Amino acid sequence: MTAQTLFIDGTWVAAADGGTRDIECPADRTLVGTVSEATRADTERAIAAARRAFDDDRWSSVPAPDRGAFLLRVAGALRERKAEFARAESLDTGKRLVESEIDIDDITACFEYFGRAAAQDAGRLVDAGSNDVISRIQHEPVGVCGMITPWNYPLLQAAWKMAPALAAGCSFILKPAELTPHTAILMMEVFDDLGLPAGVANLVTGTGPEAGAPLSEHRDVDMVSFTGGLVTGKVIAAAAAATVKKVALELGGKNPNVIFADADFDAAVDNALNGAFVHSGQVCSAGARIVVQDSIAEKFTDALVARAEQIRLGGPFDANAETGPLISAAHRDKVDAYIQKGVAEGARLRCGGTNGTGMSGDSDLDAGYYYKPTILDQVRRGMSVVIDEAFGPVVTIETFTDEADAIAIANDTDYGLAGAVWSQDAGKAQRVANRLRHGTIWINDYHPYLPQAEWGGFGHSGVGRELGPTGLDEYREAKHVYQNIAPAVTGWFDDNSQE
Ligand code: NAD
Repeated sequence: MTAQTLFIDGTWVAAADGGTRDIECPADRTLVGTVSEATRADTERAIAAARRAFDDDRWSSVPAPDRGAFLLRVAGALRERKAEFARAESLDTGKRLVESEIDIDDITACFEYFGRAAAQDAGRLVDAGSNDVISRIQHEPVGVCGMITPWNYPLLQAAWKMAPALAAGCSFILKPAELTPHTAILMMEVFDDLGLPAGVANLVTGTGPEAGAPLSEHRDVDMVSFTGGLVTGKVIAAAAAATVKKVALELGGKNPNVIFADADFDAAVDNALNGAFVHSGQVCSAGARIVVQDSIAEKFTDALVARAEQIRLGGPFDANAETGPLISAAHRDKVDAYIQKGVAEGARLRCGGTNGTGMSGDSDLDAGYYYKPTILDQVRRGMSVVIDEAFGPVVTIETFTDEADAIAIANDTDYGLAGAVWSQDAGKAQRVANRLRHGTIWINDYHPYLPQAEWGGFGHSGVGRELGPTGLDEYREAKHVYQNIAPAVTGWFDDNSQE
């Protein structure tokens, strides 16, 4: 029987043309499963189902506290099925099982946060300056939402969209990355099992240009929320402009990790390692630019290189592995080309890197798409390795002289997603944090995020915010209802009819 992984109008169906895709584990290229490859026509059917579900109010008419209670039940189901979800995420992405388990915990926390937030929304009264007027702001769902997500944190990125959309009363169509669809499929099972009305949550598995594009183009979609690369984000925003959709974009980053000489040295080295190499750098907020004060730069780089060379690569279920493979051969080759270009431009390879063969440096791993943690120093502003996102295990080292220089270097990017400042001088750390034009700044830490705190980018890192109260507002329209309780003739225009 052909795969039936499209969830449209509450029913599991195959692609209209019967198309399928084999999903392989990037750690060893074993077959994980076969899923439906949606066509445009499938996505259009999903849009129609979501439109009907929204227009007949089958979800938005559910009181907000009850929608919140539903999200809390989703969180409960995720807790119960955590092992199954984590395993599926690891098989699709190749990431270590422990990382997937953390992801599922974070997804559970996201549903809990928006479950509670949904229940708390009572709109607000506005003082209209008159006793004869009742003026209030009420929140209403945006409508039908298209959601397009990447492969690095497949279900997490989708959860940041699905949870607030459901809390707000929207219906949606999710198009996950074509390489990592399995946890999205499991998620639809959970929604269905828990009784979400048909058509509220729809899933199309397939490629961006075919299954994803209608979500940014179709007039029946009110909002498109995208997480992925800058180039795709621009295509989606341009397509959405034709129907004046709301657009939310979570794009890439080229994130500076600024280390002052007075930082806690060991903690800064250790966290720089995490910042750059967790999930082999396939993290939008990866600390891919280390910006270190010149007086400690050599010592810091030596320490980082020594640690990076010890990082153990391995598959999801290898208890000794510290990080896993890249997502695909194409992506690995892209990362390799990026490093080679950096070296050709004059960067010095301190560790890792390749010349195109044996990328893991370990023949046991050659079936997977591994790449050794790579450090480049002697880089200059203007080099491609300092400007472009690699989305792989590559970090560059830049040096600065003083506070002003650090700020200038850290802000010298079109992106603006995240960054960090390391210093034991609390005032200096705050001053620098205040000046950095990035959506999240960590002081003396790297990577933590909270579902109750907004996430998103300045500049080319995106438009809008996910998580936190703003992340819920993205899926709501604010409607002003103004009621005059003492209607009267205004006298603005003369009424001559009585003359
Ligand atoms: P990508 O842009 O290649 O793909 C993302 C999604 O868009 C996929 O589902 C893909 O199928 C779809 N897509 C591609 N072309 C499309 C089109 N024409 N119309 C509609 N959909 C289309 O990105 P990726 O390689 O999957 O992910 C890596 C990127 O995601 C990196 O740049 C990373 O920084 C970014 N990212 C950002 C965040 C954040 O929170 N800001 C989080 C995770 C990843």
